[in-house]
Amino acid sequence: MAANIIRTQVGIVGAGPAGLLLSQLLHLEGIESVVVETQTRKHVEERNRAGVLEQGTVDLLKAAGAGDRMRREGLVHHGIELLFNRRAHRIDLHELTGGRAITVYAQHEVVKDLIRVRIDAGGQILFEVGDVCLTGLDSGAPSILFQHAGDAREVVCDYIAGCDGFRGISRPSIPACVLRFYEHVYPFAWLGILAEAEPASQELIYANHESGFALLSMRSPSVSRLYLQCRPEEDLSLWPDERIWEELRRRFTTDEGFHLNEGPLVQKSVTAMRSFVTEPMQYGRLYLAGDAAHIVPPTGAKGMNLAVADVRILARALAWRYRTGSSDLLASYSDTCLRRVWRTQHFSWWMTSLLHRAAGDDEFSYRRQLAELDQVTTSRAAAATLAENYTGLPFDFPGEQP
Ligand SMILES: Cc1cc2nc3c(=O)[nH]c(=O)nc-3n(C[C@H](O)[C@H](O)[C@H](O)COP(=O)(O)OP(=O)(O)OC[C@H]3O[C@@H](n4cnc5c(N)ncnc54)[C@H](O)[C@@H]3O)c2cc1C
Repeated sequence: MAANIIRTQVGIVGAGPAGLLLSQLLHLEGIESVVVETQTRKHVEERNRAGVLEQGTVDLLKAAGAGDRMRREGLVHHGIELLFNRRAHRIDLHELTGGRAITVYAQHEVVKDLIRVRIDAGGQILFEVGDVCLTGLDSGAPSILFQHAGDAREVVCDYIAGCDGFRGISRPSIPACVLRFYEHVYPFAWLGILAEAEPASQELIYANHESGFALLSMRSPSVSRLYLQCRPEEDLSLWPDERIWEELRRRFTTDEGFHLNEGPLVQKSVTAMRSFVTEPMQYGRLYLAGDAAHIVPPTGAKGMNLAVADVRILARALAWRYRTGSSDLLASYSDTCLRRVWRTQHFSWWMTSLLHRAAGDDEFSYRRQLAELDQVTTSRAAAATLAENYTGLPFDFPGEQP
């Protein structure tokens, strides 16, 4: 075989959380894979995005051998706060779910850990590839064509996993007539900052304020991650640091005198909010996973967790195929994933509509939100529904295949 052709069992497009974890789970099943990634290793290891890991994600990362540093450095949270009408109300996730929790550990740290375990195990990740193109998806031998270090190269494989995010090439490689898209774009966005400031709260605070939503989160004991609802077309140059702090102080005001810790900003960005689902999540020998197939608004902290849930199902289906010769689980991959995807879409949309104010929303909408927040913070059943979804639905729903 020519040197520029690499033969493997599973070709993986994208070295985000989905592609890297899939590669590691397959390795543990004795299945070979090669990952191709357009960005540099440094870029993916420093890309600041999500940071809230569901209980199931934490358990899976540990089982995959990528949990040592997360175990030492991750911040385990047993509750969250909902702030409205100038008062904070705690939702005890741990007690309401029979002992489940979330872990705050930045996505780029997960990515760093996964790259390390893959490379230590001799795994192949090709960074800085270009002109990626998928061929033979409906044949028995699909391949990934790309440029790498000045050479035209090809990964020839049995299956391809499209883990290349919302703007990747995997989803557009499927004939348009085969797919259906479901999309909802929200009329607001998040202005997010990273600040060198000790988090002002031990737990995340979700605030519904008359001026709009705000979130206090963190990435470490010395770095705060804060968000403000803003307009989708918001111009960051109109938001000098002092204006951001002033607006955050306003939205986190409580009668008890909550004090926000402030510090130098190390990052400032605007994130659009959308819900998006592709159906089906597979075509021929190509399987989409993570953001390549679906997007959720970040309010429920589900994007990365959903990507992890997809690849767990895909790894299991591929392992079954190689162990038994049966393609049954691969055939039902999309249906199995989509059940969880739509449940998660619903939860993320619900959290978003509970906490944000859209332009033109009337006083009735605001009063309705306050009534619902009152219910969530006083009814055990309502709080338990939030807690179950927030800490993560079980990986295997009742009635699902083993
Ligand atoms: C800007 C941004 C901010 C976010 N912030 C939050 C947040 O605050 N909270 C939250 O809960 N969630 C957030 N999310 C969502 C969360 O980060 C994603 O759901 C998660 O990254 C999904 O993982 P993934 O592996 O599916 O995709 P990604 O992490 O997007 O990984 C895809 C990988 O594929 C690579 N790639 C793209 N095209 C190609 C190609 N043609 N060939 C090869 N490789 C390719 C990309 O460089 C990338 O490394 C954010 C997402 C984005 C985009």
